[in-house]
Amino acid sequence: MEWFVEEYNGAALKIAVKKKIVEKLSKFQKIEIYETVSFGKMLVLDGKIQLTEKDEAFYHEMLVHVPLISHKDPKKVLIVGGGDGGSLREVLKHDPEEAVLVEIDGEVIELSKKYLGIDGGAFEDNRVSVLVEDGYEFLKESKEKFDVIIVDGTDPNPFSMRISEEEFYGLSNKKCDIFTTQSQSPFAQRDYFKQVVRSLKKSFESFKIYLGFVPTYPLGLWSYAIAKNFELDLDVVKERFESRELKTKYYSPEVHVASFSLPRWIEKLIEEA
Ligand code: SAM
Repeated sequence: MEWFVEEYNGAALKIAVKKKIVEKLSKFQKIEIYETVSFGKMLVLDGKIQLTEKDEAFYHEMLVHVPLISHKDPKKVLIVGGGDGGSLREVLKHDPEEAVLVEIDGEVIELSKKYLGIDGGAFEDNRVSVLVEDGYEFLKESKEKFDVIIVDGTDPNPFSMRISEEEFYGLSNKKCDIFTTQSQSPFAQRDYFKQVVRSLKKSFESFKIYLGFVPTYPLGLWSYAIAKNFELDLDVVKERFESRELKTKYYSPEVHVASFSLPRWIEKLIEEA
């Protein structure tokens, strides 16, 4: 049996693989796609698992539906990163007028379209614009405003750091009603999690962390941050979920509300950050 192994801070996840479908060194990172034994296809960037077909919906649904349901009428949505197309697929379920995806690495988009196909045709939708450029530079230059901005970026590296820092969050604050970002594992990537929280504290008047479970991400526990106008009670979440006729595998109105209940040790990390 061949194994793909991802290590993080003294622990590791091993996934049995059948074969490597493609490997390419882009201008930014090493991109690999595997056929695994029990998780379907798997996208790996610089040795780190970005998604598997088996659990990608767990991540994309929580990243997208929590902020989009929190918005009364999300007509214009920006995704920064997310070149695999999973977040874009979920955004289109809300029937926006316009969705813009800004991904720095065009090779991630091309290889994902060719070998993964998790976008389910979203890249070809006529409401979608895809721009291949740095998300920070895009937002700095753009005069546009968005109902929701979603950051679907990679683990910290020199180019992804730019979309998880105070300056980028400050720009986002001016250009949207609701902002969301994935904020890594508070357990396995504690320092990075705290750094994201520090930047959020400096950039937004109000934000909250919410949690989800993604089996193939470091040790399974995953966090997300939402900022600006996001407070909702279960009845409103239910009403919007039903009227938009969302079909989901992980997300539900009950999960939405429950995901904001944090264990004490995470509340403490947020206070300390
Ligand atoms: N779900 C994934 C995870 O957290 O493991 C993230 C997946 S998605 C493939 C992340 C994408 O963000 C990558 O394709 C990467 O090229 C893109 N990215 C990183 N930094 C960026 C930046 N500054 N601007 C735009 N896209 C960026």
